[in-house]
Amino acid sequence: MSFDVILLGTGSPLPNPDRCGAGQVVISADDRIVIDLGWGAARRLFAGGVPPPGVDTLCITHLHSDHTTDIPDFLIMRWAGGAQRPLTVYGPEGTRSMMEHFLAAMERDIYYRFAHHGEKLSQEGIKVEVHELPATADRRVAGTIGAITVESFEVDHFPVVPALGFRLSAAGAVAVFSGDTKKCDNLTRAAQGADLLVCEALNANIFKVMGERLRAVNPNTAAVMDDVPDYHATTIEVAEMARDAGVKKLVLSHLIPPVPNEGPLAEGFAAGMSDVFAGEIVVGRDLMRLTVGAG
Ligand SMILES: [Zn+2]
Ligand SMILES: [Zn+2]
Repeated sequence: MSFDVILLGTGSPLPNPDRCGAGQVVISADDRIVIDLGWGAARRLFAGGVPPPGVDTLCITHLHSDHTTDIPDFLIMRWAGGAQRPLTVYGPEGTRSMMEHFLAAMERDIYYRFAHHGEKLSQEGIKVEVHELPATADRRVAGTIGAITVESFEVDHFPVVPALGFRLSAAGAVAVFSGDTKKCDNLTRAAQGADLLVCEALNANIFKVMGERLRAVNPNTAAVMDDVPDYHATTIEVAEMARDAGVKKLVLSHLIPPVPNEGPLAEGFAAGMSDVFAGEIVVGRDLMRLTVGAG
């Protein structure tokens, strides 16, 4: 049993033309599960060959904008594209209110489209069924979608509380998604023996140089940026978690700062990590496709 993962967005809140906001889609037989939909990630679904109407499940790690702001576009694309069933949404406390407000913001659009197209559009396809998940130190089953078991666990993105990571598995094939977190024992435990860990990563050296350059031109933004390392894991800490969890493959996503795809910053992003973690390390790119498990 195997399933595929496509990285829809490998960036973070800082703008970068190569990297969209956070997002990934898991593809298993006829099921498609999207995890997070930051800015631009919904559009990446088309480039990844996964049109929104084929997606019936959305998992949200936490309610930061770089993980959520493509959701209203996705809802409309999915529904107008022919979805017949409600979207099932799993997320932390606060998800229900956010989804209700996204739909409220699109209320006029939905009204106009029904007024124009009538019964050609499904009444069900624009609905959402939200499951707010408790934040637990140990992983717990959120739901089962086809062959995939979806589990959630709490990560440490304080003061963003609650924040979740997800573990998706099917017949022994396991992929773990960190969400946004500092170095976190819950994540290390949930990722034990995983075939794939998709983990956020902050390169402290590149971030520091970028911050100093920014300070020269925009000291206020630079001061805000000083807070960013408080709630993210450095590349070396990510390597430590991957080592301690014994994962087979580590893919860095949600890169801070979001370096270009090519050039010395991308080449140096994972510097020093292989001294800590002996497994495969990949610096993720938007639309990278990964297979989890064998055949
Ligand atoms: Zn983020
Ligand atoms: Zn965040």
